[in-house]
Amino acid sequence: MSERQIRYSFGPVPSRRLGKSLGINNIPAKVCSYSCLYCQVGRTTAMQIERRPFYKVEAIVNDVRNRVEQARKENANIDFLTFVPDGEPTLDVNLGKEITLLKTLGFPVGVITNSSLIWRDDVRSELAHADWVSLKMDAVREPDWRRINRPYRALSLSTILDGALEFAKTFSGKLVTETMLVQGGDENNAHFSEIADFLSRLRPSVAYLSVPIRPPAEKGVHGPDESTLNRAFQIIGEKVARMEYLIGYEGDAFASTGDIEKDLLSITAVHPMRREAVSKFLAQAGATWAVVERLLARAELAETAYEGHQFYLRKFKENIEQRMPSAGQSSLSRVMGGKERHGKK
Ligand code: SF4
Repeated sequence: MSERQIRYSFGPVPSRRLGKSLGINNIPAKVCSYSCLYCQVGRTTAMQIERRPFYKVEAIVNDVRNRVEQARKENANIDFLTFVPDGEPTLDVNLGKEITLLKTLGFPVGVITNSSLIWRDDVRSELAHADWVSLKMDAVREPDWRRINRPYRALSLSTILDGALEFAKTFSGKLVTETMLVQGGDENNAHFSEIADFLSRLRPSVAYLSVPIRPPAEKGVHGPDESTLNRAFQIIGEKVARMEYLIGYEGDAFASTGDIEKDLLSITAVHPMRREAVSKFLAQAGATWAVVERLLARAELAETAYEGHQFYLRKFKENIEQRMPSAGQSSLSRVMGGKERHGKK
C-alpha cells in the first residue's frame, strides 16, 4: 500500500477510559514485540524490538489534522488523540516527535503500550510528552509473561518492570495499567498478590483488569470465570488506590439513566458490588431484589462468593457473540470497535 493510501487515524470513537478518542495508527498491523495469546488482531507477523521509522511524521500529523477538522465540521467531540495501533506504538522511532506535533492541535495525547520497551531511556523520555499512558502489566513472573505475552526472545521481564517503575517516578501525566487475565493461566492467589505488590509500587492512577472479549489469536483462549475475575479484583484492589474492570462495555458507568437494570449493569461492569451495596442501591431507587433475579436469569449478571461475601458483577462471556462484528460491518468499524484493547490494548 502506498503511503498516500494509508489511513493513519480513525474515529473519534467512544472509549470508556478516554471519552471520545481519535485513534492513531503509527505502526503497520501486527508489527509487535509481543505475540500475546489473546491478541485480538491476530498473530504477530513481524516480531521485532528495533525501533525504526515506519511512516513519515508529516503524513501521520496531516492525516490526524484533517480528521480533527472533519470532526469539527460534524460537531463530533474529541477528548483525546490516542496512539492505539494494531502493533506496538513505541517501536516507532518518531513517536516522540509525533506526540509533540500532535499536541499543537490542542488535544491531550494518550499512548497505549505493551510496556516492552519502557526500559529504554529514549522511549521513556518520548512517552513523557504524552498526557496519558497505559502500560500493559499481565504478569510479573517470567514464565507467566513468556506464556501469555510470548515476547521477543531477547527481552527481559525484570528490565521491563524496572523501566516501568522508573517511568512512573517521573511521569507527570496520568499513568494507568491494564492486566489481562486468561483462563488456564496462573490463577492462584499468590499470582494475583505478586501483581498487586508490583502495582502498589508502580502506583498507577487506575489499574484496569480485563479479559479477552473478542476472538483471540489462539483458539481456545478465554477469560477466566467470573469468580476468578472477582477474586483477582479483590486481591489486587486491596493494594492499589483505584481498580476497575475493563471488560468492553463502553457504557456510562455510574451515570444514572433512570433505568435501574441498565444502571446496575453499568456499575457492575466496572466494579463488582457486594450484596449489601446492591440492596442499598435498589432501595434508594425504590426497586426490589427482583431486578437482580431478572438479570441473573438472563445471564447478564453473575453472582459469586469471596471471603464470606456475595458479589455481583456484569457477566461478559455470554455477551461475546453480541459484540462480535456482523458480516456486513465495514472493516473500518471493525477496527474502531476493537480499539479499547491491546488485546485491547
Ligand atoms: S495484544 Fe498488543 S502487545 Fe499483544 S500481540 Fe497484540 S498488539 Fe502486540
